[in-house]
Amino acid sequence: MELFAVPGLPEIREGDDLAALIDERVDLRPDDVVCVASTVVSKAEGRVRDYDDFSPSPRARELADRLEAATGDSKDPRFAQAVLEESTEIILAEPFLLTASRFGHVGVNAGIDRSNVADGDLLLLPKRPTESADRIRSGLPADRVVVTDTCGRPFRHGQRGVAIGWSGLPASRDWRGEHDRDGRELGVTVQNVVDELAAAANLVAGEGDGGTPVVVVRDFEFGDHAGSDAHFRDVETDFVRQALREWRYD
Ligand code: GDP
Ligand code: MN
Ligand code: MN
Ligand code: MN
Repeated sequence: MELFAVPGLPEIREGDDLAALIDERVDLRPDDVVCVASTVVSKAEGRVRDYDDFSPSPRARELADRLEAATGDSKDPRFAQAVLEESTEIILAEPFLLTASRFGHVGVNAGIDRSNVADGDLLLLPKRPTESADRIRSGLPADRVVVTDTCGRPFRHGQRGVAIGWSGLPASRDWRGEHDRDGRELGVTVQNVVDELAAAANLVAGEGDGGTPVVVVRDFEFGDHAGSDAHFRDVETDFVRQALREWRYD
Protein backbone atom coordinates (compact mmCIF):
# COMPACT_ATOMS: atom_id res chain seq x y z
CA MET A 1 0.00 0.00 0.00
CA GLU A 2 1.29 3.49 -0.75
CA LEU A 3 0.04 7.02 -0.05
CA PHE A 4 0.71 10.22 -1.94
CA ALA A 5 -0.69 13.75 -1.92
CA VAL A 6 -2.43 15.22 -4.96
CA PRO A 7 -0.19 18.14 -6.06
CA GLY A 8 -1.15 21.64 -7.12
CA LEU A 9 -4.66 22.04 -5.73
CA PRO A 10 -5.72 25.72 -5.54
CA GLU A 11 -7.38 27.51 -2.64
CA ILE A 12 -10.86 25.97 -2.62
CA ARG A 13 -13.88 28.26 -2.79
CA GLU A 14 -17.64 27.83 -2.59
CA GLY A 15 -19.04 26.02 -5.60
CA ASP A 16 -15.75 24.48 -6.70
CA ASP A 17 -16.07 20.99 -8.17
CA LEU A 18 -13.61 19.12 -5.96
CA ALA A 19 -13.85 15.87 -7.91
CA ALA A 20 -12.98 17.66 -11.17
CA LEU A 21 -10.07 19.50 -9.54
CA ILE A 22 -8.70 16.20 -8.21
CA ASP A 23 -9.32 14.26 -11.43
CA GLU A 24 -7.36 16.86 -13.46
CA ARG A 25 -4.26 16.38 -11.31
CA VAL A 26 -3.88 12.65 -10.79
CA ASP A 27 -4.44 9.43 -12.72
CA LEU A 28 -6.73 7.57 -10.39
CA ARG A 29 -7.35 3.85 -10.41
CA PRO A 30 -10.71 2.30 -9.53
CA ASP A 31 -9.46 0.75 -6.29
CA ASP A 32 -7.76 3.93 -4.99
CA VAL A 33 -9.08 5.40 -1.75
CA VAL A 34 -9.21 9.19 -2.10
CA CYS A 35 -8.97 10.87 1.32
CA VAL A 36 -10.17 14.48 1.36
CA ALA A 37 -9.66 16.88 4.28
CA SER A 38 -13.02 18.17 5.49
CA THR A 39 -11.59 21.68 5.32
CA VAL A 40 -11.77 21.72 1.52
CA VAL A 41 -15.08 19.86 1.42
CA SER A 42 -16.52 22.54 3.71
CA LYS A 43 -15.10 25.36 1.62
CA ALA A 44 -16.53 23.88 -1.58
CA GLU A 45 -19.90 23.47 0.16
CA GLY A 46 -19.99 27.09 1.31
CA ARG A 47 -19.52 26.43 5.05
CA VAL A 48 -17.28 29.47 5.68
CA ARG A 49 -18.80 31.85 8.25
CA ASP A 50 -17.96 35.12 9.98
CA TYR A 51 -18.41 35.75 13.69
CA ASP A 52 -21.08 38.29 12.80
CA ASP A 53 -23.22 35.59 11.21
CA PHE A 54 -24.05 34.40 14.74
CA SER A 55 -26.14 36.32 17.26
CA PRO A 56 -25.53 34.82 20.67
CA SER A 57 -28.48 33.48 22.63
CA PRO A 58 -28.52 33.74 26.44
CA ARG A 59 -27.33 30.11 26.54
CA ALA A 60 -24.35 30.95 24.30
CA ARG A 61 -23.45 33.93 26.50
CA GLU A 62 -23.61 31.75 29.59
CA LEU A 63 -21.40 29.09 27.97
CA ALA A 64 -18.85 31.72 26.89
CA ASP A 65 -18.77 33.19 30.42
CA ARG A 66 -18.27 29.75 31.93
CA LEU A 67 -15.46 28.92 29.52
CA GLU A 68 -13.82 32.24 30.25
CA ALA A 69 -14.06 31.65 34.01
CA ALA A 70 -12.65 28.12 33.63
CA THR A 71 -9.75 28.98 31.32
CA GLY A 72 -8.95 32.65 31.98
CA ASP A 73 -9.05 33.33 28.22
CA SER A 74 -11.70 35.57 26.75
CA LYS A 75 -14.31 33.68 24.76
CA ASP A 76 -16.49 35.10 22.01
CA PRO A 77 -20.18 34.32 22.64
CA ARG A 78 -20.72 34.35 18.86
CA PHE A 79 -18.37 31.36 18.65
CA ALA A 80 -20.33 29.56 21.38
CA GLN A 81 -23.48 30.28 19.36
CA ALA A 82 -21.91 28.74 16.26
CA VAL A 83 -21.03 25.61 18.24
CA LEU A 84 -24.58 25.39 19.63
CA GLU A 85 -26.11 25.67 16.17
CA GLU A 86 -23.94 22.82 14.89
CA SER A 87 -24.63 20.53 17.86
CA THR A 88 -27.33 18.28 19.20
CA GLU A 89 -25.79 17.78 22.65
CA ILE A 90 -23.21 19.44 24.88
CA ILE A 91 -21.16 16.69 26.51
CA LEU A 92 -18.65 18.95 28.31
CA ALA A 93 -19.16 22.68 28.82
CA GLU A 94 -15.74 23.35 30.34
CA PRO A 95 -12.79 23.65 30.15
CA PHE A 96 -13.67 23.27 26.47
CA LEU A 97 -16.88 22.68 24.56
CA LEU A 98 -17.22 19.01 23.65
CA THR A 99 -20.36 18.43 21.63
CA ALA A 100 -22.06 15.96 19.35
CA SER A 101 -22.56 17.32 15.85
CA ARG A 102 -25.79 16.81 13.95
CA PHE A 103 -24.33 13.89 11.96
CA GLY A 104 -23.09 12.04 15.05
CA HIS A 105 -19.43 13.03 15.34
CA VAL A 106 -18.29 14.06 18.82
CA GLY A 107 -15.60 16.73 18.84
CA VAL A 108 -14.28 19.86 20.49
CA ASN A 109 -16.19 22.96 19.32
CA ALA A 110 -18.34 20.80 17.01
CA GLY A 111 -15.30 20.57 14.74
CA ILE A 112 -15.50 24.27 13.86
CA ASP A 113 -12.09 25.21 12.51
CA ARG A 114 -10.16 28.48 12.49
CA SER A 115 -7.08 27.28 10.59
CA ASN A 116 -6.75 27.41 6.80
CA VAL A 117 -9.91 29.50 6.37
CA ALA A 118 -9.06 32.12 3.75
CA ASP A 119 -12.41 33.82 3.20
CA GLY A 120 -13.86 34.19 6.70
CA ASP A 121 -13.42 33.65 10.42
CA LEU A 122 -14.78 30.15 10.85
CA LEU A 123 -15.23 26.94 8.92
CA LEU A 124 -18.08 24.61 9.86
CA LEU A 125 -17.79 20.89 9.14
CA PRO A 126 -19.69 19.62 6.10
CA LYS A 127 -23.37 19.18 6.96
CA ARG A 128 -23.51 15.51 5.97
CA PRO A 129 -19.97 14.29 5.25
CA THR A 130 -21.01 10.84 4.06
CA GLU A 131 -23.20 12.48 1.41
CA SER A 132 -20.23 14.69 0.53
CA ALA A 133 -18.11 11.55 0.11
CA ASP A 134 -20.79 10.00 -2.14
CA ARG A 135 -20.87 13.14 -4.28
CA ILE A 136 -17.09 13.41 -4.67
CA ARG A 137 -16.86 9.71 -5.48
CA SER A 138 -19.51 10.00 -8.21
CA GLY A 139 -17.24 12.49 -10.01
CA LEU A 140 -14.07 10.40 -9.78
CA PRO A 141 -12.77 7.25 -11.47
CA ALA A 142 -11.83 6.02 -7.96
CA ASP A 143 -14.47 3.94 -6.19
CA ARG A 144 -13.63 4.82 -2.57
CA VAL A 145 -13.62 8.19 -0.79
CA VAL A 146 -13.02 9.14 2.86
CA VAL A 147 -13.64 12.63 4.28
CA THR A 148 -11.25 13.32 7.16
CA ASP A 149 -10.80 15.83 9.96
CA THR A 150 -8.06 16.40 12.50
CA CYS A 151 -9.41 15.64 15.91
CA GLY A 152 -8.21 15.31 19.51
CA ARG A 153 -8.98 12.28 21.63
CA PRO A 154 -9.27 11.56 25.32
CA PHE A 155 -6.41 9.97 27.30
CA ARG A 156 -3.70 10.88 24.79
CA HIS A 157 -1.83 14.02 23.81
CA GLY A 158 -2.03 15.34 20.30
CA GLN A 159 -4.47 15.15 17.44
CA ARG A 160 -4.74 12.82 14.48
CA GLY A 161 -6.92 12.25 11.45
CA VAL A 162 -10.32 10.60 11.75
CA ALA A 163 -12.96 9.73 9.19
CA ILE A 164 -16.15 11.77 9.38
CA GLY A 165 -17.64 10.49 6.12
CA TRP A 166 -16.94 7.63 3.72
CA SER A 167 -18.25 6.11 0.54
CA GLY A 168 -17.55 2.95 -1.41
CA LEU A 169 -16.11 0.88 1.43
CA PRO A 170 -17.43 -0.26 4.80
CA ALA A 171 -16.35 1.75 7.84
CA SER A 172 -15.05 -1.32 9.64
CA ARG A 173 -13.57 -4.70 9.07
CA ASP A 174 -15.03 -7.34 11.33
CA TRP A 175 -12.45 -9.82 12.65
CA ARG A 176 -14.90 -11.60 14.94
CA GLY A 177 -15.00 -15.29 14.26
CA GLU A 178 -11.51 -15.22 12.71
CA HIS A 179 -8.55 -16.73 14.55
CA ASP A 180 -5.28 -15.56 16.05
CA ARG A 181 -1.99 -17.43 15.61
CA ASP A 182 -2.83 -19.79 18.43
CA GLY A 183 -6.19 -20.71 16.94
CA ARG A 184 -8.07 -18.64 19.49
CA GLU A 185 -11.28 -17.20 18.08
CA LEU A 186 -11.48 -13.39 18.07
CA GLY A 187 -14.55 -12.29 19.97
CA VAL A 188 -14.61 -8.49 19.91
CA THR A 189 -12.22 -7.05 17.33
CA VAL A 190 -13.86 -4.74 14.82
CA GLN A 191 -11.17 -2.70 13.12
CA ASN A 192 -12.21 0.80 12.14
CA VAL A 193 -10.65 0.91 8.67
CA VAL A 194 -11.83 4.38 7.64
CA ASP A 195 -10.30 5.95 10.76
CA GLU A 196 -7.02 4.14 10.13
CA LEU A 197 -6.94 5.28 6.50
CA ALA A 198 -7.85 8.82 7.61
CA ALA A 199 -5.02 8.86 10.15
CA ALA A 200 -2.47 7.73 7.55
CA ALA A 201 -3.76 10.25 4.98
CA ASN A 202 -3.73 13.04 7.55
CA LEU A 203 -0.10 12.25 8.27
CA VAL A 204 0.71 12.94 4.61
CA ALA A 205 -1.62 15.96 4.32
CA GLY A 206 -0.10 17.80 7.30
CA GLU A 207 -1.74 20.53 9.33
CA GLY A 208 -0.20 23.80 8.17
CA ASP A 209 0.35 25.56 4.87
CA GLY A 210 1.34 22.48 2.84
CA GLY A 211 -1.63 22.84 0.51
CA THR A 212 -2.17 19.10 0.29
CA PRO A 213 -5.72 18.36 1.44
CA VAL A 214 -6.20 15.30 -0.78
CA VAL A 215 -4.23 12.08 -0.35
CA VAL A 216 -4.55 8.96 -2.46
CA VAL A 217 -4.19 5.55 -0.79
CA ARG A 218 -3.16 3.07 -3.49
CA ASP A 219 -3.30 -0.74 -3.27
CA PHE A 220 -5.21 -0.92 -0.03
CA GLU A 221 -7.05 -4.21 0.12
CA PHE A 222 -10.05 -4.49 2.40
CA GLY A 223 -9.68 -8.23 2.20
CA ASP A 224 -12.07 -11.04 2.69
CA HIS A 225 -13.71 -9.85 5.89
CA ALA A 226 -17.24 -8.92 6.82
CA GLY A 227 -17.75 -5.15 6.81
CA SER A 228 -19.87 -2.82 8.89
CA ASP A 229 -20.89 0.83 8.60
CA ALA A 230 -21.20 1.33 12.35
CA HIS A 231 -18.93 4.30 13.14
CA PHE A 232 -20.36 6.86 15.58
CA ARG A 233 -21.56 5.22 18.78
CA ASP A 234 -25.20 5.54 19.81
CA VAL A 235 -25.65 7.53 23.01
CA GLU A 236 -27.34 4.53 24.65
CA THR A 237 -24.32 2.26 24.26
CA ASP A 238 -21.59 4.88 24.73
CA PHE A 239 -20.63 4.45 28.36
CA VAL A 240 -17.81 7.00 28.32
CA ARG A 241 -20.13 9.67 26.93
CA GLN A 242 -22.75 8.83 29.54
CA ALA A 243 -20.18 8.99 32.32
CA LEU A 244 -18.99 12.40 31.15
CA ARG A 245 -22.56 13.67 31.09
CA GLU A 246 -23.07 12.52 34.65
CA TRP A 247 -19.93 14.26 35.78
CA ARG A 248 -20.70 17.54 34.06
CA TYR A 249 -20.84 20.44 36.53
CA ASP A 250 -24.25 21.85 35.63
P1 GDP B 1 -8.59 19.70 8.42
O1 GDP B 1 -7.74 18.63 9.07
O2 GDP B 1 -9.70 19.15 7.57
O3 GDP B 1 -9.08 20.72 9.41
O4 GDP B 1 -7.65 20.49 7.39
P2 GDP B 1 -6.31 21.32 7.71
O5 GDP B 1 -6.64 22.76 7.99
O6 GDP B 1 -5.48 20.59 8.72
O7 GDP B 1 -5.58 21.24 6.30
C1 GDP B 1 -5.12 19.99 5.79
C2 GDP B 1 -4.23 20.23 4.59
O8 GDP B 1 -4.98 20.87 3.56
C3 GDP B 1 -3.03 21.13 4.84
O9 GDP B 1 -1.95 20.66 4.02
C4 GDP B 1 -3.49 22.50 4.34
O10 GDP B 1 -2.42 23.32 3.94
C5 GDP B 1 -4.35 22.09 3.18
N1 GDP B 1 -5.41 23.02 2.78
C6 GDP B 1 -6.39 23.56 3.54
N2 GDP B 1 -7.23 24.30 2.79
C7 GDP B 1 -6.76 24.23 1.52
C8 GDP B 1 -7.19 24.78 0.26
O11 GDP B 1 -8.21 25.47 0.14
N3 GDP B 1 -6.44 24.47 -0.85
C9 GDP B 1 -5.31 23.68 -0.77
N4 GDP B 1 -4.63 23.40 -1.89
N5 GDP B 1 -4.89 23.16 0.39
C10 GDP B 1 -5.60 23.42 1.51
MN1 MN C 1 -8.01 23.40 9.66
MN1 MN D 1 -10.67 20.65 10.88
MN1 MN E 1 -5.89 18.96 9.86
